[in-house]
Amino acid sequence: MVSRVIPVDRFDLVIFGATGDLANRKILPGLYRRVLAGQIPEGSQIIGAARSEMDAEAFREQVRGAIHEHVSPAKIEPEAVEQFLTMLDYVAIDAKGDGGWDELKAKVRPDAINAFYFSVAPALFGDIAERLHMRGIAGPEARIVVEKPFGRDLASARALNATLAAHFDETQIYRIDHYLGKETVQNLMAVRFANILFEPLWNAQFVDHVQITVAETVGVGGRGSYYDKSGAMRDMVQNHMMQLLCLIAMEPPYHFDPDAVRDEKLKVIRALQSVSPHDIVRGQYLGKGEDAGYLEDSEDPDSKTESYIALKCHVANWRWTGTPFYLRTGKRLRARTSEIAITFKEPPHSIFDEAEGDWRENVLVIRLQPNEGMNLKMMIKEPGPGGMRLVQVPLDMSFAEALGEDGAEITDAYERLIMDVIRGNQTLFMRGDEVEAAWAWTDPIIEGWEARGDRPQPYDSGTSGPDDALMLMHRDGRRWREIRE
Ligand code: NAP
Repeated sequence: MVSRVIPVDRFDLVIFGATGDLANRKILPGLYRRVLAGQIPEGSQIIGAARSEMDAEAFREQVRGAIHEHVSPAKIEPEAVEQFLTMLDYVAIDAKGDGGWDELKAKVRPDAINAFYFSVAPALFGDIAERLHMRGIAGPEARIVVEKPFGRDLASARALNATLAAHFDETQIYRIDHYLGKETVQNLMAVRFANILFEPLWNAQFVDHVQITVAETVGVGGRGSYYDKSGAMRDMVQNHMMQLLCLIAMEPPYHFDPDAVRDEKLKVIRALQSVSPHDIVRGQYLGKGEDAGYLEDSEDPDSKTESYIALKCHVANWRWTGTPFYLRTGKRLRARTSEIAITFKEPPHSIFDEAEGDWRENVLVIRLQPNEGMNLKMMIKEPGPGGMRLVQVPLDMSFAEALGEDGAEITDAYERLIMDVIRGNQTLFMRGDEVEAAWAWTDPIIEGWEARGDRPQPYDSGTSGPDDALMLMHRDGRRWREIRE
């Protein structure tokens, strides 16, 4: 397949937090892979910044180690590694201090594209934004990239937005939700809006319900004290799952343009009804064998933070009234899998007798991980003589198989998103009003269980979560899809 990737101009990318976990695990290896793909123009610079004192050479050695640790051996080409390392530079800077900023200013070239990645704790966003602006390092064309969590409630998200807005225009701010960078997530838009097939059926008249599942097998491990202040609702539902729900539920934008897409997503969030406590199940994993339970991981033996949540919600508009959206996410579950399943209604009348098959509805499953792809379950005739017997079969498409080599090399979400920043394309980034609207929906739900003092239900590690989550569907005459890889 001939590459139709849009080339970018040379750029200077400054990574604050360049010695941290995210930079070393995702951002820097991702940039290396883009060098390997021939997408980073010559003359571009990647400048690391953090408090640790080191020179550019020591930083290059750190990054060399990160590449060897986090890039698959098949993708390590010594020439490309050297080429990438020569692009790197480093400045020691304390976000709250005065040192290092003049040095940084001298390195950032105003005639290149300028991007500043804030891969640091959100508490430092304001300090960095202010210094970049006030010291004239980031001009009106510069872009800033901020990481999650973007606030922990509406008030803190508003404050963060106001802090950034004091120094940068909304068109310069790229709020990362790495789920939006996943190939399949963008494919959701392609499937819906580049095919005539699904859109006429994409509404409450034909869709029985939607399930969104993000299941992890890991616990909170060493991040217990951080996670305990967050929980599954803040960590997964308010951002990643909400974004997936938006892409499924939104109206067709007039054009694939950043604000057109984000306007439509915002309308979905605003149309979300409040969720009754009856429609929420929260859980906490128990220990198993050598693996600690949540309460040990969190270091608070009385923690009420949920490591699992399942909820039913409704998008109150003409398209979706009557179709429930069931969301669930949790840690230490049976398998690591993320998928969206759209279950269609049964045909209005069956011409076949019940005995002629195990009748099932059509289901469109969009797999985000593992093995990104799509699967449409359809009824067909069971082969062979002896009358008409029906059987459900999958029309299965793995992107890796369908697209051959290009599909096998599905680009990591971070790589795609960083290149979008360089291109100045905000489509896959959350706008400030979207984030605030998502918190405005989330806050009352959390406040509700906090006020009631609700305790999450314990569930066994390696299962599909608390029993009550099964009931959430059963009482509606539906059932969750099995969690499996
Ligand atoms: P981390 O490993 O703790 O790294 C933090 C980085 O910030 C380090 O490079 C640290 O370097 C630097 N830093 C700390 N204080 C600083 C200061 N005063 N001035 C300048 N630099 C300072 O954190 P992380 O996991 O990489 O996460 C970074 C951000 O990404 C956080 O907002 C996190 O929520 C978000 N995030 C991370 C992940 C992930 O998988 N790690 C996923 C999603 C979002 P020095 O100590 O050398 O200054």
